[in-house]
This record gives sequence, C-alpha cells and structure tokens, in this order.
Amino acid sequence: MIELRIKVDPFPLVEPLVVRLRDAASGPGPNDAVLIGMEGSRREYDFQGFSLALHAASDLKLDNDVIMIVPGQASARRLLRADSQHNTFLVTEQCDQLCLMCSQPPKKQHVDLFSELETAASLAPSNAYIGLSGGEPLLHKRKLFDMLLSLSKTRPDLMFHILTNGQHFGEEDIDTLQEIGVERILWGIPLYAANADGHDAIVKKTGAFDRLPKSFSILFESGAAIELRTVVMQQNYDELPALAGFVGTALPFLERWAIMQLENIGFGRMNWDSSFKDTSTDFGNVARAINIATARDVPVQLYNFPLCSVPARYRHLAPASISDWKNKQEPFCADCSSRQRCGGFFEWYDHKKGFRGLGPI
Ligand code: SF4
Repeated sequence: MIELRIKVDPFPLVEPLVVRLRDAASGPGPNDAVLIGMEGSRREYDFQGFSLALHAASDLKLDNDVIMIVPGQASARRLLRADSQHNTFLVTEQCDQLCLMCSQPPKKQHVDLFSELETAASLAPSNAYIGLSGGEPLLHKRKLFDMLLSLSKTRPDLMFHILTNGQHFGEEDIDTLQEIGVERILWGIPLYAANADGHDAIVKKTGAFDRLPKSFSILFESGAAIELRTVVMQQNYDELPALAGFVGTALPFLERWAIMQLENIGFGRMNWDSSFKDTSTDFGNVARAINIATARDVPVQLYNFPLCSVPARYRHLAPASISDWKNKQEPFCADCSSRQRCGGFFEWYDHKKGFRGLGPI
C-alpha cells in the first residue's frame, strides 16, 4: 500500500505547517522545502533556513509532494502526491448521517484545517484533480465555499470532486456555486432507494430522502455537475430496478450514476455480513438497473467491482476506480489477462468473506 504518512523528526511548531517538498528549486517559494541531503532512509530539507528531516524509503519519489506537519505528531500527512490523480482532503470528520456502509465513521469533534488545505491546494501541480470528503464537508459550508472561491481566483486550473450527503444546499448558494465555477466541481451525492423508507433506513436519518430533491434542483439550477452514487447492498438490492426508473425520470440531468460495491472498512466492515451483496454470483438487479438507466440516457458507471465479477457485456462500464493508495489484487489475479484494466480490490478486502464467483478472464 502507498504510504500516506511520512515519519518526520521533531520540528518546532505551534500550528500545522504545509510544505511542498522539492528535490531542487532555484527560487523556492515560502512553502517550499528543498532537498539538501539523503542518507539511507533519511532526507534532509532546507525550509527557510531550518533543517527539516523526513524518513522514507530511498526510492520513494517525493518531489513536488505537499505534506502537512502537525505539532506533536511524529509523522507528516502526505496531502498531495504530485504524480497521483487520487488525492483527497478530509475536510471534516463530522457528519449528520450514520450510513450503514460509511468508510469514515463520523466523530463529534471538528478539527478546522481549511486554511492549511487551501494552502496545500494552492501548491498542487497544474490541472490537479482533488477530492474533498468527510464526514460531511457542507456542515462547514461557509468555510468550504470561501476556500473554493479563493482557489477559483488563485488556481482556476484546479478541479474538485466533492462528496456530500446533499442535505445542506440552499437557494442562497446558487450565486456562490456559479461564482466558484460549476465546470470545476463534480458533486458526488448518494441515493440508495427510490423511497424515503429505504433511503432513510440506510443513511439512518429521518427526512434525508425528502431533503434531496431541493438540493438536486438547486444544483441543477446553478448548472452544477452531479455524480449520483448508490452502494449496492442486501438492503437495497431488490430495489435497484425501481431506483433506476426513478433516476431516469426524476434526475435525467446527472453527469453519471455510479453504482458501487461495498468497501469493507469503517461501518462497511462492521455491517459486512448483513450488507455485502455478492454481485459476482447474482448480478441480475444490477443489470436490470443499468438497462433501465441506459434506456433513459443516464450514463452508468460501476465502481469498486472487480472486472471478473461483472458479466462481459457490462465490463466497459467498470473503470479501475479504487484509489491507487488503497488498491490490491488477489493471488489468483496473477494469471489474468485483464489485470491492467481491472480495479482489483480495496487493500482491506477479505476474500474469505467476499466475492465467490471470481477468476482470471
Ligand atoms: S482475476 Fe483479478 S485482475 Fe482479473 S478481473 Fe478478476 S479481480 Fe481483476
């Protein structure tokens, strides 16, 4: 697994520090630390005249990565990996839903790092695509929008994919969304059933389903791009065709509908036995949902599905969607001719409790 933390020698700080690591720089900026020596796993950087020492495998490429050092912590967070398209900022760990499959179960406390995240984004490589997730980022809507507004002026080349539960958009946001630039953000919003009982039971919030149409209409009016996200579970498997009909009728303006497999971490792991639906042995309702949505011109994608779990006629819909830092393959993948284009598995996937119908293709 790709390391997202790097051991750092004690550095005198009272506030989090965002630093871009440079192997060489003729005119380093105020956040640049320039490499001045390497010995084994130890790398020494010059940061504004101070020595900053990191410990990482000698072959690990760190040039132009952006890290954050937090006072009192022995490792720095690798916020941006310069050569990756899978960088995500955790905006907050607070959330007002308790979704059965949540991979990042919410916490009560919010640690406000908007200023640091804005600095990190400002140091990103050109045309970087950055994910923002939580928790629920829009619980801190004003600060989130202020950050995006500021970056739209300083770094108009950046693009964002923002995961939100879609509970907090208001009509007053339309102008702000347009000022930020609707073409620069894809909003990922979950919908698990075509009725309030089914959706609310999965997100564990009464009224969540009924709040979504308002948010969708606000995003639609502002011209924003929406990726609807549905995790397939035992709880909603039977409802997928009905949901596809609802999506095609009520939400024909979607950028895409992402039908997703379950990630076995967080609440997803806790609820695995009662929630995981083995679509490698029964793909029927997923296929029906795809057919219905496609007939209504809704573009469908399958996320987190190993390619061999998908019938051949639908494999073109299944990109390698699992982020590079949490992706693995199983031993039986060694003989598979589709290894290069298959998304494989989450690092924490346990095959003993997983898909039963897989094999090289
Ligand atoms: S055998 Fe492995 S690499 Fe091949 S399609 Fe299945 S999961 Fe992917």
